[in-house]
Amino acid sequence: MPSRQERIRVLLVEDDEDDYTITKDMLAGQDRARFEVEWCSDFEDALATIGEERHDVYLVDYRLGSHTGLELVREAFAFRSRAPVLILTGQSDFEIDLEASALGATDFLLKQELNPYALERSIRYAIRHQQALSDLAVSEERYALAACAVNDGIWDWDLLSDRVYYSPRWGVLLGLSETAREEDSSAWFDRVHVDDLRGLQVAIEAHLSDRTSLLQSKHRILHQDGSFRWMLARGMAVRDSAGKPVRMAGSLSDITVARLTEHRLQYDALHDSLTGLPNRALFMDRLERAIERGKRDKDKGCALLFLDVDRFKLVNDTFSHSVGDELLIAIAHRIGRELRPGDTVARLGGDEFTVLLDDLPAAAPETPAVEVVDRLHKALEHPFEIDGRRLFVTCSTGIALPANGTTASEALRNADIAMYEAKHGGRARHAVFDGGMHRRIADRLTHHNALREAVERSLIGVHYQPVVELDTGRIHGFEALARWPEGWDSLDPSQFIPLAEETGLITLLGRHVLRVALTTLASWRQAGLVADDVRMSVNVSGAQLDEPNFPDEILEAISSAGLPGGVVRLEITEGSLMREPDRMSRVASEVCATGVGLELDDFGTGYSSLAALHRFPVNALKIDQGFVAGLGALGGSEAIIRSTVALGHSLGLDVIAEGIETENQLRILRELGCTLGQGFLFFRPAPVKQVEDILRSQLPNKWKGLRSRGGRSISWPEGPGTPVDTATAVPSR
Ligand code: C2E
Ligand code: CA
Ligand code: CA
Repeated sequence: MPSRQERIRVLLVEDDEDDYTITKDMLAGQDRARFEVEWCSDFEDALATIGEERHDVYLVDYRLGSHTGLELVREAFAFRSRAPVLILTGQSDFEIDLEASALGATDFLLKQELNPYALERSIRYAIRHQQALSDLAVSEERYALAACAVNDGIWDWDLLSDRVYYSPRWGVLLGLSETAREEDSSAWFDRVHVDDLRGLQVAIEAHLSDRTSLLQSKHRILHQDGSFRWMLARGMAVRDSAGKPVRMAGSLSDITVARLTEHRLQYDALHDSLTGLPNRALFMDRLERAIERGKRDKDKGCALLFLDVDRFKLVNDTFSHSVGDELLIAIAHRIGRELRPGDTVARLGGDEFTVLLDDLPAAAPETPAVEVVDRLHKALEHPFEIDGRRLFVTCSTGIALPANGTTASEALRNADIAMYEAKHGGRARHAVFDGGMHRRIADRLTHHNALREAVERSLIGVHYQPVVELDTGRIHGFEALARWPEGWDSLDPSQFIPLAEETGLITLLGRHVLRVALTTLASWRQAGLVADDVRMSVNVSGAQLDEPNFPDEILEAISSAGLPGGVVRLEITEGSLMREPDRMSRVASEVCATGVGLELDDFGTGYSSLAALHRFPVNALKIDQGFVAGLGALGGSEAIIRSTVALGHSLGLDVIAEGIETENQLRILRELGCTLGQGFLFFRPAPVKQVEDILRSQLPNKWKGLRSRGGRSISWPEGPGTPVDTATAVPSR
């Protein structure tokens, strides 16, 4: 609606220039509104200009050359909503007047009766009228929509008489009969919860005094069944010409469920959805409070435990995520059972749990904290029965004892660091945070940078450890093992390989080792240092198998080394295969199509060694060195090795024992039927030159096999394979 100063854009369609000038002048001198008059003198021009819909009002002369103004209206406005039209005419004609109004023209003005004020008023009224019409259309539409939403009750409140029409649905929402009723407003307001009544009144007042464009109020209303239901009332006032509200109508919807959901969302925001335990946000809040309390009460201390389930990934990879989830829930229960009511256990995510032990003696919080950890570790020792399986779980725990001035997030980080330390020390351990751990973390960072440099500059070395036939001592093959660059501060593969896996550098590293190892084997073959059936085994990490072009890379590496695929073996742990058995099966068969063989590394240490055997085209099993180390001891691993050997041989696979260090182990392995092995007893992994020396020294067939009985003790001058037990089993030279 145009306000006093508002600019009104007028299109005047008038074929007579004098009339145009007169009308324009009339509109020019107005002080209530500023008119901008645009002029069209002919029909076609007018039609096009109206089509642009740039004007607030159209003044159209009835006579337009061979056309009439009504024709223009009919044609121009046939399909569009529009600004108001005033027809100007030189003579009064009732018929035309009627036709004009039928076409929707707002007014019909006689030119000779026009004066500036009358014209201005006509235009203003026309615009206002049109606005009201379109408002009405909108509100009718709104009402129709509201009524369609059958779940809403409708109310229509005559503010002057205080009578309210309530729709049948309104009654149903409150547990009343499904009939329309007309009562006063107290039928509604008397049912509103006392705590919400004031809010509703404020909302109504705000809308009636035009401070809000819509009434919106959430309040509880008493249901017939005696309960309170959450309702959302929405409404809009209807005002008289003076702007005074006379009526207000709107809807009422039951939002009880939505309100509950809202509360549920608030709960969810602070709890872990899987276990129902507090989540990180809630835990941090409690930790902050505990630390604050410690500041006020000097006798009270707290401790923070950070638990991480050992090798949890294996469970997820081997079975399914739902088994993993079940296990986490069961672990959460067990942890909870061991704690006192005041303590908080939370799940931070994944397999990480935190525990806040409150109310510890400030002087010595460590002792009780360690006691709790011991108790927790013990509680987890019993196997978990999940989905018909027995799962054994251990966890590594970091302990932080927040000192004065430590913030909650620092305490959490410290406990996390301590947990990593515990994990590095081996599984099922705990560690209490100390300042030195920060240094070790810094070292890790240094190592990471060094690793990146070593990998990117292809400085990672490769050593080779022969795999020998246990009966004859003949070299059956080699395992290629990555080595830290020579001359650098030394780092074991057990340190840098996991780091490379964590940081993703493993793919580059693995590619490098593969190429170097295959090239080396090719050169030995060419030099006649090894027989044609001698194999090269290369370790492959799970992350490498995830590379989409891994099989192509293998193919590329064997063909550029000029090797037949059959002499190449990839050592893969069952864990990396069983992560995604289906996908890995495809990768494995693609790899095997190149002729390359697979060896299951660290066999027997995972959860599903047999399943892996069954699913993958494996050529060899490598008995983990842990089992070999356990030979001869009380309750030793003979039985496991015996059955592994039997299983492997019955499937036609090579069985290779790893980490053979003593003559005794060798003897037992032979007795158990194991025919292949590697270990310090024969050779330590050595750089290429030293291995070549060995190979040369064995030519032609100087290697006579292992002397099994007594004999001279031979020590290697500077050889790679410094035997551990030189008194008995050593290769002759
Ligand atoms: P692994 O695959 O089980 O390799 C055998 C490990 O046992 C090697 O350790 C080897 O030096 C060691 N070993 C051999 N004989 C004996 C023995 O008689 N006694 C003892 N105690 N140990 C023996 P290394 O070279 O330190 O490698 C450790 C692990 O690092 C490997 O275990 C393998 O998992 C990984 N690794 C090494 N090189 C690579 C590589 O190029 N790529 C990948 N992905 N992993 C690698
Ligand atoms: Ca290996
Ligand atoms: Ca191994």
